[in-house]
Amino acid sequence: MTNGEGKLLQQTVAREAGFAGVALHSGRRVRVLLRPREAGGGVVFCRADIGGAEIAAKAENVCDTRLATTLRQNGAEVGMVEHLLSALAALGIDNLTVEVDGPEMPALDGSAAPWLLLLSSACGLRAQNIPKQFIRVRKKISARLGAAGAEFFPNEGRARYRVAIDFSHPVVRRSGGGLEYELRAEDYEREIGRARTFCYVHDVEQMRKNKKALGGSLGNAVVFDDRGVLNEGGLRYKNEFVRHKILDAVGDCYIGAHLILADYRAARPGHGVNNQLVRALLADKTAFEWTESPAESPPADSPAPARSFAPA
Ligand SMILES: [Zn+2]
Repeated sequence: MTNGEGKLLQQTVAREAGFAGVALHSGRRVRVLLRPREAGGGVVFCRADIGGAEIAAKAENVCDTRLATTLRQNGAEVGMVEHLLSALAALGIDNLTVEVDGPEMPALDGSAAPWLLLLSSACGLRAQNIPKQFIRVRKKISARLGAAGAEFFPNEGRARYRVAIDFSHPVVRRSGGGLEYELRAEDYEREIGRARTFCYVHDVEQMRKNKKALGGSLGNAVVFDDRGVLNEGGLRYKNEFVRHKILDAVGDCYIGAHLILADYRAARPGHGVNNQLVRALLADKTAFEWTESPAESPPADSPAPARSFAPA
């Protein structure tokens, strides 16, 4: 929704709604309640189990990026925030209170689809009377972390993502390793939002030894062994793995609850390099500007919103 000057307005949810689910690593059942938040308030997690300690979604509050993106503030932590943030970016939600009664968000089905359903159906969206603020990238920014690399390039004012994955595993390799996608509310769920997180069955065994993935199951991740995918029904998309990497990138780039208008390009990305990239951008005041005016997205019915490519 726009105001009289044609500026896009900030959004929150129209009413509170929530659900319960199992946290992937702790295996604990957690309850989540999404509540409206005032304009300009951003996205803030609130730990109901420890006196309502607040943890703002901000790049500088990211304290751990192994396995998932974890935030820490005021002595409290919340992990696995990236799939909800990805859904918020896609729906254009600027302000939200996320009440949770444990240190990790529920894994749900390993994708953003249950969040999209909760937000758009149970909560509904409400426009607020202040224009949205976007971060427009003005010059190239790069980050590297081990074999992972990610970059922002300036563009005409859109949020585009191009990801190449390079897993030696044949099951992942066969599924296709390169994809580019421009973020649009109209087709995010169909193209990206349903793609699930994935892991190799031997990694699951290793994580369990380290008391991780205790809530993991074929119900909340794609699991594969040397021969193929173990989940009944197989993959949701032929190239579900790289689609999930774009889902994660959308969420990790929305860590401050402002859409970053740029071409994001990454090879073998993970949460660590994504967070370094966003921090590097925000640390360089000449690298970005705030704007209330993004470029108009192309029409939702333009063909092939997500396009595959063969990584070099
Ligand atoms: Zn993920």
